[in-house]
Amino acid sequence: MSDKNLKQRDQIPQEYKWNISAMYPDESKWEDDVAQCISRSENFKSFSGRLGDSSDILLEALTERDAIWQKLEHAFVYAAMKKDEDNRVDKYQAMNDKCSAAMAKVAAAMSFFTPELLSVPEEKIFKFISEEPDLSAYEFLLKAMLREKKHVLTASEENILAQMSEVTGATNDVFKMLNNADMTFGSVIDEDGDEVTLTHGNYITFMESHDRNLRKKAFTNMYEAYKKLNNTLATNYNYNVKTDVVSSRIRKYDSSLAAALNGGNIPLSVYHNLIKEVHEYLPVVHRYMSLRKKALGVDHLKMYDVYVPLVETPKKNISFEEAVEIMAEGLAPLGEEYIKQVRNGIKDGWIDVYENQGKTSGAYSFGAYDSMPYILLNYTNTLKDVFTIVHEMGHSMHSYYTRNSQPYTYGDHSIFTAEVASTVNESLLIKHLLATEKDENMRKYLLNYYIEEFRTTLFRQTMFAEFELLAHEEIEKGGVLTAGWLNDTYNKLNDMYFGPEMEDDGYIRYEWSRIPHFYRGFYVYQYATGYSAATAISEKILSEGSKARDNYIEFLKSGSSNYPVELLKIAGVDMASPKPVKMAMETFKSLVDELEKIL
Ligand SMILES: [Zn+2]
Repeated sequence: MSDKNLKQRDQIPQEYKWNISAMYPDESKWEDDVAQCISRSENFKSFSGRLGDSSDILLEALTERDAIWQKLEHAFVYAAMKKDEDNRVDKYQAMNDKCSAAMAKVAAAMSFFTPELLSVPEEKIFKFISEEPDLSAYEFLLKAMLREKKHVLTASEENILAQMSEVTGATNDVFKMLNNADMTFGSVIDEDGDEVTLTHGNYITFMESHDRNLRKKAFTNMYEAYKKLNNTLATNYNYNVKTDVVSSRIRKYDSSLAAALNGGNIPLSVYHNLIKEVHEYLPVVHRYMSLRKKALGVDHLKMYDVYVPLVETPKKNISFEEAVEIMAEGLAPLGEEYIKQVRNGIKDGWIDVYENQGKTSGAYSFGAYDSMPYILLNYTNTLKDVFTIVHEMGHSMHSYYTRNSQPYTYGDHSIFTAEVASTVNESLLIKHLLATEKDENMRKYLLNYYIEEFRTTLFRQTMFAEFELLAHEEIEKGGVLTAGWLNDTYNKLNDMYFGPEMEDDGYIRYEWSRIPHFYRGFYVYQYATGYSAATAISEKILSEGSKARDNYIEFLKSGSSNYPVELLKIAGVDMASPKPVKMAMETFKSLVDELEKIL
């Protein structure tokens, strides 16, 4: 749809727009809130030097700190979402800028809090907790903060590190500049015969094209560009990994992996088990690659044949109302309460459904602690959009349950647990569709869709995680990440993950150099663990019924009131054991078996 045909926001019926005015029925209150947060954070400085004086003072400070952030977050979320409604409106752009500045001011005014708290003797804090019942709500938070203590340096060392942090992020900035500003990828002739400039944005569309020449051209153009900068990108990544390693040593961690996993108190075994279990099931991926080769009818399978759907995308026209009914059927195993709340949420105005001029693209779930858990969509009546609603509704229901059960302190979710709630929903929906779909072509499409989710989330992200681990270990051993080392290591992993059917094209060895997530060390494994946990949970709910479901709802209520691995145990999965990943792999295997039968 061209922009000209796109509706203006005021042409869209109210029932399809989110009800954000519920956050500020009187918008003039917004300015007051922001100003009040700034002045309260100035007053907050009066706690400085007194946090260890008494349990009353500590409780008062913690409570005030939460209250300030809660109010400011409310203002921030409102401004951000108003801007997303129509990015062309100056007023909301200005409110966003104002809010960012206010957040920086508030953070600076309260920055003494953590270092000062960590300087109070631990026994004293535990004594405060035991004598003041209201402090018990903060017990986990305080203990989690104290756990970091041995990795916190002296005040003057911390000051030096804080000043150095302005330059330690340089490798990421250099990569972003190269990747988003300076690199160009030439042009390709698209399916309509038009010459189109190749970009990061349209690359994946071309990879899904049924025109093999187009796929090959886009792939070659893309990798030629990275190949030309191979040495520069290798040097940059080398220093990025070095920064992780040196920082972990300065903070007295055993390794860079231990440093990355420490914040969430994630056992190292979670990382290692993931890689080990995925290795065991690689033969199933190899079998899927053979099926792919057969279904596409190609003599030689290449990396540019990996993303094209094996079945033509079905042309379905699903209205939003129908999508809600499909969602309700798919999520029925989560119980009547859950579905009732989903419907109430939609009725109350959680969702902004359709695209309009100036609206932010994509989809998300967002909100403040004390607002509705809003959902932004750009719904276009496709089956993929139904999956998007179900995914975002998973996040929003997670927020809904958490915020109704937890205080503000534990009202959010870590990345490790957040994607579990959305993926459980997606996996329940696809299982429902596969169980009820009769049309053979549609079944093939759904199977392929589901298998691809596994391949791109579980296998691909684990391969990335393994690559990152090898790179960090190489530096820790005193090695250097040369272009040759990086290309060869990546190529070997790619061979191992895709198997003997995949032919080396001489290009995929450069793929490591175009992954932005590699500049955030040891992050991507959480996509794979989250996906495994979600698959295991949805299996449990379907096979064990109400007990497993009730446990899962308890997990949704738990917010960030404990470490992620502990929280997932409430839902019956122990990520420190290999079991959940194994369960997910078994699901993957059964899908490939079925696809093999019907292709
Ligand atoms: Zn998500």
